Amino acid sequence: MKYVIIGSGVAGIAAIEAIRSVDGAGTITLVGDDPHGFYSRPGLAYYLTGELPDGALFPKRREDYQRLHFQSLKGRVKRIIRNRCQLELDEMGTLGYDKLLLALGACSTPLEIPGSRLEGVLKLDHLSDAKHIIRLAKKGKTAVVIGGGITALEIVEGLVSRGMKVYYLLRGDRYWSNVLDEHESHIVEQRLEQEGVILHFYAEVAEIKGRNRRVIAVCLNDGNILKCDLVAYAIGVSPRTKLADVAGLEIDRGILVNEYLQTSDPNIFAAGDVAQVYDPSTKSSVLDSLWSPAREQGFAAGLNMAGQRKPYLKSVPFNVTRLAGLTTTIIGVVGRGRDEDLVGIARGDSETWRQLPDAIVAQDGFEVNRLRLLVGEKTLLGAVVMGDQTMSFPLEKIISNNMDITSIRDHLLTPNTNIADVIAGFWTKTAERVM
Ligand SMILES: Cc1cc2nc3c(=O)[nH]c(=O)nc-3n(C[C@H](O)[C@H](O)[C@H](O)COP(=O)(O)OP(=O)(O)OC[C@H]3O[C@@H](n4cnc5c(N)ncnc54)[C@H](O)[C@@H]3O)c2cc1C
Repeated sequence: MKYVIIGSGVAGIAAIEAIRSVDGAGTITLVGDDPHGFYSRPGLAYYLTGELPDGALFPKRREDYQRLHFQSLKGRVKRIIRNRCQLELDEMGTLGYDKLLLALGACSTPLEIPGSRLEGVLKLDHLSDAKHIIRLAKKGKTAVVIGGGITALEIVEGLVSRGMKVYYLLRGDRYWSNVLDEHESHIVEQRLEQEGVILHFYAEVAEIKGRNRRVIAVCLNDGNILKCDLVAYAIGVSPRTKLADVAGLEIDRGILVNEYLQTSDPNIFAAGDVAQVYDPSTKSSVLDSLWSPAREQGFAAGLNMAGQRKPYLKSVPFNVTRLAGLTTTIIGVVGRGRDEDLVGIARGDSETWRQLPDAIVAQDGFEVNRLRLLVGEKTLLGAVVMGDQTMSFPLEKIISNNMDITSIRDHLLTPNTNIADVIAGFWTKTAERVM
């Protein structure tokens, strides 16, 4: 069997691991256009702040790859020729496949305004983008960052830690309004202001001005002009669907796949940020732009490519991140629908978070240790844990196992209840059932 994987991200590598776990004989070829190969994209935030050296971004060692014995080609796939089961590669001729995986990821949604092609206008998709940002970030100079969500904030923090003055522009009235509630957004905003970040709400960029092809200012629709040396944007991500689209595969917002990660062509699979995956539990196809689902989808796709019939069952979306220095865990369904700061989905984001939950909110906490629960009829549907993370683990288990919380529901919803204590008590009594 000839397996070909396009994309050296976490979905592609997990697929190779899965194939090798059941097929030691087939040939596997990985084609990837990232010169740095496989590394942790969530780790780029810590690389930008200087907390991680670039060596720490690479989760695998040479021996790990040798054990998987596959061929790695550094290059770009230009076309899928489906009737011949072949790929056309950039400067490397053609490559045949029996089973093909598209693990192409997603790219930053481009900023479509005058001046956005100037030198000094930056995005953050790859390690090379992070290196570019670090090269241009100069102490005492000024940056403008545009966009809601995790990535824009990570860029803000990276630039602040490198001594830059930062204007942070949000189109709406608060930070990440589709996932965080007002109080949580304000905690993040206050912490940013304490770090010296200048926030602009309802900010709409009209144009980026340049001189000698380099950025010198950002002009806002309200007439404000912000002089700056660098502009970074993260306004959402778009799955890289073009290759599949041109090949005639079914696409919607991502490449459509069934629960076996199979596209409309049974020999071609898709996984990770590029895939819009069918979820049998909700009977809908959703996008995730999260590391763990990409790995799980890649693994399931690999098993199915190798002939196992293993459905991918979407787990409850879970992300531990850092918002303005505050560790924050987001689990399950927590959101409020649309976010005007983002076009589509953002990095580190799940469409599931944005579904409007049929739930009542229980919340608790003061300034930085904060807990919000989305309480359904019999189960917890979601949670946001900011600061103290003691409750993250039990909550993840309670939510992902759909545990019946009827016995504590009324207590949780009683005003002034310490909901962390109620959850801790419930967990102590019930933990052994799910562990
Ligand atoms: C800055 C940043 C912060 C993030 N933070 C978080 C976080 O806190 N938590 C979280 O869960 N997730 C986070 N994410 C998202 C997470 O990293 C992604 O969900 C995950 O990496 C997706 O993996 P993937 O394998 O699907 O795609 P990718 O990792 O994007 O890999 C796809 C690869 O395919 C290559 N490729 C595309 N087209 C071709 C072609 N035609 N030929 C050859 N190669 C091609 C691409 O260049 C790329 O190397 C973050 C991402 C970024 C960038």
